[in-house]
Amino acid sequence: MRVRAAVGLTMVPLLAVALQACGPGTVAPPESTAPAAAEPTSTAPARPGAPGIGDEYFPGAGNGGYDVRRYDIELHYDPSSDRLTGRTTITASVSRNLSRFNLDLALPASAVQVDGARAEHTQTGTELVVTPDRALVSGNTMTVRVDYAGAPSQTGADSPWVRTADGAVAVGEPEVAAWWFPSNDHPVDKANVAVTVTVPRGVEALSNGKLLGGPEPAADGQHRWRWRAEAPMSPYLAFVAIGQYELVQRDTPAGPYLAGYAEGLEPEVAAAARESIEQTPQIVGFLSELFGEYPFAQLGGVVPNAPNVGFALENQTRPVYSPAFFAAGTDVDVVVHELAHQWFGDSVGVRRWRDIWLNEGFATYTEWLYSERTGGASAQQITDRYFDAIPADSSFWQVPPGDPGADDLLDRAVYVRGAMALHAIRVAVGDETFLGTLRAWAQQRRGGSGTVEDFIALAEQRSGRQLDQVADAWLYRSGRPDRIG
Ligand SMILES: [Zn+2]
Repeated sequence: MRVRAAVGLTMVPLLAVALQACGPGTVAPPESTAPAAAEPTSTAPARPGAPGIGDEYFPGAGNGGYDVRRYDIELHYDPSSDRLTGRTTITASVSRNLSRFNLDLALPASAVQVDGARAEHTQTGTELVVTPDRALVSGNTMTVRVDYAGAPSQTGADSPWVRTADGAVAVGEPEVAAWWFPSNDHPVDKANVAVTVTVPRGVEALSNGKLLGGPEPAADGQHRWRWRAEAPMSPYLAFVAIGQYELVQRDTPAGPYLAGYAEGLEPEVAAAARESIEQTPQIVGFLSELFGEYPFAQLGGVVPNAPNVGFALENQTRPVYSPAFFAAGTDVDVVVHELAHQWFGDSVGVRRWRDIWLNEGFATYTEWLYSERTGGASAQQITDRYFDAIPADSSFWQVPPGDPGADDLLDRAVYVRGAMALHAIRVAVGDETFLGTLRAWAQQRRGGSGTVEDFIALAEQRSGRQLDQVADAWLYRSGRPDRIG
């Protein structure tokens, strides 16, 4: 994610780029990771699955007792009424004997089936509690079908579902999925995602991954759009954008490119957005040279007509950008940032939200590497400018990027001090080892996730150096560290 509002950064005029943040990812196994395979014996008594996956920052995020393999999401959406009707079928592995389990869903569910049989359900906030008629056995696969409907923008006090003049967009971090599909909403449980959206004739519906079909004729003269994310994906990285879009498609060396630009954008904004986002294939090529092969089979971007969405998000394969980024002209930095997240945040996600530095520090530092390698300021110069511009007594230095706390998850310190932390590591281990470590991280954990400590350990292993002091000063301790270099 990258936030548009440049809170307090005006003191750095050369870098008056809006700060951004973007997303997380997950750990090792290329299939969705199994959250703690506790008590896998079929003789253990069946007990309720936990209402949270065990994230210290967000105790209610995700759920315990199963690991999702696949979501099949079928939606009908009427932009004029904000009425969404959904049926999502979840295929999951049961990881302990369960008497019941939770899903994360904000919209009211009307019916739930487990393995084809009707199941009891209750709902409080974003927790949907499902009690099947028979206990679920560890090691088995379960199929859960949930029917639900509602007005997502009016559900809950803080709905991330945004209506636009011509439709809607579901994009957000750390949670957004619950407003359009039931899920195990934590980045560590990645799954394959297929999305089918039926909308009034002439309306476009965009999502992640491959466009399998659309617009296709559907019942009642409507149109259907079918998408499939072919690599496992964290639920918050799934998006849907519905409205009047112009689609731009072409083949590129990294795969099929598909971008969508809302037709209602101001002409100057639309032109600047295109000029920036259409550089996606070249930037992906640039980043592939730095970090290794692009981790996904598709690429693109989406600009909804939603200026009140104040951020861009690294939605897997197809980031969603607020048009506000392009209100004053082109912005390539935000594109570099969101595309860097495809490696750092999407392909390799966070094990816990506490690991957000692995996403935002890395994406921000990638902007600095891009500057350095395309004739702009070097990462050292940018680091120095921030260091000099932000007084030692600024609250900025009080947020440790390696453990910022839930309230400061997307604080600019996670981005900027986080990027400076990477620069400090680079200076400590040398350029070649530094880039080799980033590449090894992206490659070894592709499709999975990791922790801050895992990354530091890898950098130590590859450099043969002890990095405790650097990590402590830049990632974990409050207060301004010593100048780098
Ligand atoms: Zn970001």
